[in-house]
Amino acid sequence: MMIAKQKPRCLLGMFLILFLGLSMGIMAQDLRLALIPEQLRPGEPVTIGITGATVGADTKLWAELINAQGRRLSRASFFSLTMDQDGATVKAAILAVPCTSGPGPALIRVQQGSGSIGEMNITILPRDFVSEEIALDQNNTELRTVADPQKTTEANTLWAILSRTGADLYTTEPFKPPVTTTRRTSFFGDRRVYKYVDGSRDTAIHAGIDYGVPTGTAVTACAPGKVVLARPRIVTGNSVILEHLPGVYSLYYHLDKIEVQEGTLVKGGDRLGQSGATGLATGPHLHWEIRVAGENTDPDACIAHAVLDKDTLLGKLIPIH
Ligand SMILES: [Zn+2]
Repeated sequence: MMIAKQKPRCLLGMFLILFLGLSMGIMAQDLRLALIPEQLRPGEPVTIGITGATVGADTKLWAELINAQGRRLSRASFFSLTMDQDGATVKAAILAVPCTSGPGPALIRVQQGSGSIGEMNITILPRDFVSEEIALDQNNTELRTVADPQKTTEANTLWAILSRTGADLYTTEPFKPPVTTTRRTSFFGDRRVYKYVDGSRDTAIHAGIDYGVPTGTAVTACAPGKVVLARPRIVTGNSVILEHLPGVYSLYYHLDKIEVQEGTLVKGGDRLGQSGATGLATGPHLHWEIRVAGENTDPDACIAHAVLDKDTLLGKLIPIH
C-alpha cells in the first residue's frame, strides 16, 4: 500500500485557503442551492433552486452561467417557486446554454445586487450541429435583406415579450410536440447558409425545429400556457407565442390560420391554428421554437424532461458550504 506523504503547504497557500473558507462561509450563510441537470449540452435548459433565511419573497436575485474564461453566457432572474416546510421562500431561475457555446467546465453564479452569494459547478458537453444551405427566391431574399421599419418594430415587440420574466407557473410537465408528424425538414441549431438571388450569401443559426407538414395541419399547444402573441409578422408570418413559465415561451411560425387570441389561457394539446407557409418560408411547414430567458432552446430537451421539475428541484436543495 502506498501512503502519499503530505507536503507542508506554503504560508501563502494556507492564507489563501483560510481566506477562501471564510469568504465562502460569509457568502453561503444558510443558503441551499440545487441545479438540474449538472451536465448539459449547448441549447439545453438548466433550472436553479435557492432557499435560505436571507432569501425573501422580495429579494431580487438572478442566475448567471459563466464559462471557464469568465465570460457570461446567459442570465435569468429568479422567481418565487414555493415555500418549504419551515416557511422559507424557495426561488427558482431557468436559463439555457447558448447553442453557440463551446464545451468545458462552467459555473452557475447567483447574484444579488453587484455581488455573488453562491456558486455551483456545471459542465457543458460537446455537441455537433447540422449544416445546411438554403437558396432563397426574390421574395424571400427581400424578406431577409430589405430594411423595413415595420420589421424593426416587430423585432422589438418580440424581444420585449421574450425577455420578460413573469411570475406565473402554467406547467411543470414535459412539453409535447405541436404536430403529430415526426418528419423534420430542419433541426434545432442548424448552421444555415442563405443563398440570395444575386449570388451573395449570409449565415444564420436555426432557432427551432421545422416539421414538414401540409398547409392546414392542426397545430397544438405544447403545454398549458397563456397566449402572449397571436398576429401576423413580416418574417415569421402568422405567429403564436405561448408563455409557460417565467421566461419560458413556445413559438409557432408560418401558420396559415391563427385560431387563438392574445390574452387567453390554453391547455396542452389545445388547437392554436393551422400550419402554412406565411412569411419567410420555402414551402409549407411548422417552425416550432422554445425560448428560455431569451435564449434559443432545444425543444427536444423540453420534451425529454420538464423544464421546471419542481419536486426534484426541491429534493435536491443542499447547503453550498
Ligand atoms: Zn424554421
